[in-house]
Amino acid sequence: VCPVGAISERNHVEDVWKVLEDPQQTVVVQTAPAIRAALGECFGCEPGTLVTGKMTSALRQLGFDGVFDTNFTADLTIMEEGTELLMRLKKALQDKETVSLPMFTSCCPAWINFAEYYYSDMLPNLSSCKSPQQMFGAVAKTYYARKQGIRPEQMTVVSIMPCTAKKFECQRQEMIDSSVQDVDYVLTTRELGQMVKEAGIDFMALQESEMDAPLGLSSGAADIFANTGGVMEAALRTAYEIVTGRELPVKNLHVTPVTGLEGVKEASIVIEHPVADWSFLDGVEVKVAVSHGLANARSLIEHIESGEKSYHFIEVMACPGGCIGGGGQPRLTTDAVRMKRINAIYAEDEGKLMRKSHENEAVQQLYAEFLEQPLSEKSHHLLHTKYRGKPAV
Ligand code: SF4
Repeated sequence: VCPVGAISERNHVEDVWKVLEDPQQTVVVQTAPAIRAALGECFGCEPGTLVTGKMTSALRQLGFDGVFDTNFTADLTIMEEGTELLMRLKKALQDKETVSLPMFTSCCPAWINFAEYYYSDMLPNLSSCKSPQQMFGAVAKTYYARKQGIRPEQMTVVSIMPCTAKKFECQRQEMIDSSVQDVDYVLTTRELGQMVKEAGIDFMALQESEMDAPLGLSSGAADIFANTGGVMEAALRTAYEIVTGRELPVKNLHVTPVTGLEGVKEASIVIEHPVADWSFLDGVEVKVAVSHGLANARSLIEHIESGEKSYHFIEVMACPGGCIGGGGQPRLTTDAVRMKRINAIYAEDEGKLMRKSHENEAVQQLYAEFLEQPLSEKSHHLLHTKYRGKPAV
């Protein structure tokens, strides 16, 4: 169910079956980080059973031409959003320019809708980064399509999302930066479960397989986008290393104060001995907050507006627990179910050798071959967006 109650769910399974049968179309699929810890529930698994490899095999059997990962563009989001935050801090603290802080994350379309409607004066505070789903569509239909020698209109991008609001997001008029609609169809976790059953695939008997390169390669930091606090933790892992030039020890990767199901969570980090480019941050206490559930976002904003609280960076997710508790996930979602999925996602992160977004070599290659650098003109065109204020009545 849509967390803001504005969107009713439309099933797109028939549309996707049709396009998979079209020989003129190259059909690629991306899977959001939260799917792998919940899809198994459609086939009788306990909540929190990780089925990443079986899910990948199922998507191949369904006929997708490329099986990719929204995690790839979660890593890309960290590169863009982290750089955007550091540039805002530089303008505010070094250049003494007026700049909109705190900066809010922009991965969650229900939060974006909510901010556009109720807090239009705060829109400059939203990161201009598109969500990872939308970055994926724009990159797939430009960079990857070019590599494959096909035109954007010959490619269909299907997303598997934990979320009903993503169905609306892909249809926003801004999301056509590849020259056609960047993401064509969004299926929820439940709809993917339905397709697997309709195809007669014995999901639990499937062998595990790996996602395709390059858009299927990702870090553990991308996995944790699924959980409340995950985007913040992923951003801090990368920002810390960029600013200090020092590697974060593995035992310090988790930002414990922003994990768990408390409605609003806070953390702060004092920057010590940054590299020359970021010397203005020496001794600065960077304050962050994380909220999930829109009532908590509202209360957080009210505390900021009243001057009671101040932060530099805030993560907001509309669903309780973040995307692992999204409206497109298998039902019933209780706090116990949320915690099992959250623990599974952290286990997925901890099982990887590459756990920071800036270490993703496929993302580095994307910059080297195509985007140039974070916040470049091409990055701005494909990976960033604008927001709309409340419509006039
Ligand atoms: Fe969708 Fe909920 Fe995740 Fe927001 S928090 S992106 S509404 S699943």
